[in-house]
Amino acid sequence: MDMFKPLDRQKDAQNPVITENIENVRCLIIGSGPAGYTAAIYASRANLNPVLYTGLQMGGQLTTTTEVDNYPGYPDGITGPQMMEDFKKQAERFGADIRFGIASSVDFSGKKHKVTFDDKKMIEADAVIIATGATAKYLGLESEIKYAGMGVSACATCDGFFFKGKDVAVVGGGDTAAEEATYLAGLCRKVYLIVRRDILRASKTMQDKVFKTKNIEILWEHQTVDLFGENGVEGATLIKKKGLSGEEIVKIKIDGFFLAIGHTPNSEVFKKFIETDQVGYIVTVPGTSKTNIAGVFAAGDVQDSHYRQAVTAAGSGCIAAIDAERYLSELK
Ligand SMILES: Cc1cc2nc3c(=O)[nH]c(=O)nc-3n(C[C@H](O)[C@H](O)[C@H](O)COP(=O)(O)OP(=O)(O)OC[C@H]3O[C@@H](n4cnc5c(N)ncnc54)[C@H](O)[C@@H]3O)c2cc1C
Repeated sequence: MDMFKPLDRQKDAQNPVITENIENVRCLIIGSGPAGYTAAIYASRANLNPVLYTGLQMGGQLTTTTEVDNYPGYPDGITGPQMMEDFKKQAERFGADIRFGIASSVDFSGKKHKVTFDDKKMIEADAVIIATGATAKYLGLESEIKYAGMGVSACATCDGFFFKGKDVAVVGGGDTAAEEATYLAGLCRKVYLIVRRDILRASKTMQDKVFKTKNIEILWEHQTVDLFGENGVEGATLIKKKGLSGEEIVKIKIDGFFLAIGHTPNSEVFKKFIETDQVGYIVTVPGTSKTNIAGVFAAGDVQDSHYRQAVTAAGSGCIAAIDAERYLSELK
């Protein structure tokens, strides 16, 4: 793929009606998770006077979790909201201009990159860093919300440790589910893999790993209908062979319930211009944050379908700021 060839889709760009003034900035950062704030720290210190728009979720995904135990530099762990407040303060210390607003449309067809916030304020930027993250998919059960942070998780790498020696379930049949199940099997006593169909979608290699792991039990043709427990997840109610002969209700005792049915990258607003993969993850030139549009960079979970950790997001935010700085210095 020619990474710097603008997509045909650009031609469809529509200019939104702007009622407020248009502002010119050198470096615009979209998103306030670990990737966005880290990019802001580096871009401020490089004198790029970055303007960062936070989006609806100021601080990003980590503001929805209590304990973060695996971010280096916090030997006693830290809460997600406090950690993101620290990131923000550090970016502000070097002069990053942090504002509330949601990118509602973009026009990356010209030399100046236009991003409209909340359908009314347009920023024209020489360089843009997209750090809009990804959102984990849930089944849509009320009990998932009830037990969020109390046994329900969408990240085995993040939360598996809290279930050491316990029994857990993983939902899903793809590669992620197979990976999460084998990861958890190394920590937990027993792992149920709840699979809707009678086959796994995971690659042959991942399937083999699952089949060979003694403490993984696959519950074929099972669907979760509810979770129960007094002060956190204590079990799940499943339906086996829903709508088929032999349909039955099954209850399992578990302490943790892990969703592994995919993530939705928050890239929709950029798709007219920016190359994404089939799922919607922004495609970057390997080893860099460069997208198919010169001067537009992507960092964090929006371009990472594999690692999805705060520390990797922060690292890629740093890469994006350095890439943006080099791009801007060559623009002069
Ligand atoms: C419950 C939970 C617990 C987790 N625990 C851990 C953990 O313990 N350790 C760990 O390393 N990782 C953990 N993770 C994963 C970690 O949170 C992510 O990998 C990390 O937050 C990704 O950072 P990011 O900056 O790419 O995006 P995000 O944190 O997702 O931030 C995206 C930002 O983009 C903004 N945004 C989105 N769309 C727009 C738009 N259109 N316009 C403007 N802004 C927009 C959002 O408001 C948000 O500020 C956890 C995730 C969850 C959900």
